[in-house]
Amino acid sequence: MGRKIGSRYTAHQILGRGSAGTVWLGEGPEGPVAIKLLREDLASDQELVGRFVQERTALLSLDHARVVGVHDLVVDGNDLALVMDLVRGTDLRTRLERERRLAPEAAVAIVADVADALAAAHAAGIVHRDVKPENVLLDMQGPLGPGGSHPALLTDFGVAKLIDSPRRTRATKIIGTPDYLAPEIIEGLPPRAAVDIYALATVLYELLAGFTPFGGGHPGAVLRRHVTETVVPLPGIPDELWQLMVQCLAKAPASRLRASELAARLREQLPLLAGMPPLDVDEPDAEAQADEAYEETTPEPREQPPRRGAVPLVPGATPSDANRDTHTSMRVPAPDELAGGARGTARAPRTPGAVRPGSARHRASARRRRVTLGVAGVVLAAAVGAGAWYATSGDDADPAAPDNRNSAPPVP
Ligand code: ADP
Ligand code: MG
Repeated sequence: MGRKIGSRYTAHQILGRGSAGTVWLGEGPEGPVAIKLLREDLASDQELVGRFVQERTALLSLDHARVVGVHDLVVDGNDLALVMDLVRGTDLRTRLERERRLAPEAAVAIVADVADALAAAHAAGIVHRDVKPENVLLDMQGPLGPGGSHPALLTDFGVAKLIDSPRRTRATKIIGTPDYLAPEIIEGLPPRAAVDIYALATVLYELLAGFTPFGGGHPGAVLRRHVTETVVPLPGIPDELWQLMVQCLAKAPASRLRASELAARLREQLPLLAGMPPLDVDEPDAEAQADEAYEETTPEPREQPPRRGAVPLVPGATPSDANRDTHTSMRVPAPDELAGGARGTARAPRTPGAVRPGSARHRASARRRRVTLGVAGVVLAAAVGAGAWYATSGDDADPAAPDNRNSAPPVP
């Protein structure tokens, strides 16, 4: 029989669970659909329901082959549901976990698809704000493209904006990996189109390397790295592809490519990448072990080993890794928490010729890291910035700036 959702839809079986609710395989008047039933606490929040209804038109308006379309929004008693295109396949996180690293051709083809989706959204004035592998679905029924990749579709448009209201960032609510957050968000600027480009370049790096460029350790440390650290080259990556990634990971939003340009430039690279195996990148864990071995022979303070996935922003809070709950809604840690806990691991893949643990350069760089960590102001600025982001996230009616080159002042 299944569960009735409004008068037109029936939910049959669970397809997956996310941070906002449960996704069901369902049936509607036009055939099979995916129905995202929002969590009860979200659905019973009148203000949130009001915002969803207000955003209805924007949510329903995006019609693009690379976007998981929203067909309907159902408000029915205690249910709040988004009715979407059904994508038969898997999400990109699941694929990445299975393969650990993707061959460059497949990674670039997937990211080019997502860039197409973003180009359409940005042209319509919509910023996604939560681009990450969990929100990319791979359509296994679609034709195989370059590198043997199925078409990729971006989902969850506008949902981050609706759910991350200032009220939802109260002290008890801690979720999220800050791995994909653009530095300007951390510094308190409103999220414009370029934040999606930064997040997508982070995803590309992660598909190639098996880990994100600035992730690992305490979230405060991750935020700091986004603002202050430079991305380390991946060994064996073709230079043109690397230059593209560096440009899209630029600290200054105005320096990043626009989505349509990124898609085109990525597709130009595809023929050069054909047949190339996944990059041979050192696992961060191996590096952590090497660092530990090194630290046993030195009196220098220990750094925390890198950790992947969602981590609590305050000590003692429960990380929500179990259900891969990686929505970027975070509680801003108090200054004392940051001062006590922001000792992250500036984690980078070791490239040939790069710093080796125990070397003089390594010690110098460890010293530099401690100096940076001593600048608690940077982390505080990050916290204040993140706070300002939440404060603005509920009412930035039109944050999208299709022309993102001049849309925000550059971040120094
Ligand atoms: P949330 O945004 O709440 O975290 P997601 O959108 O990530 O939830 O959905 C959770 C899971 O449900 C996904 O990982 C995927 O497996 C499945 N899913 C989501 N949307 C669809 C869809 N349109 N078609 C098929 N499966 C989907
Ligand atoms: Mg999602």
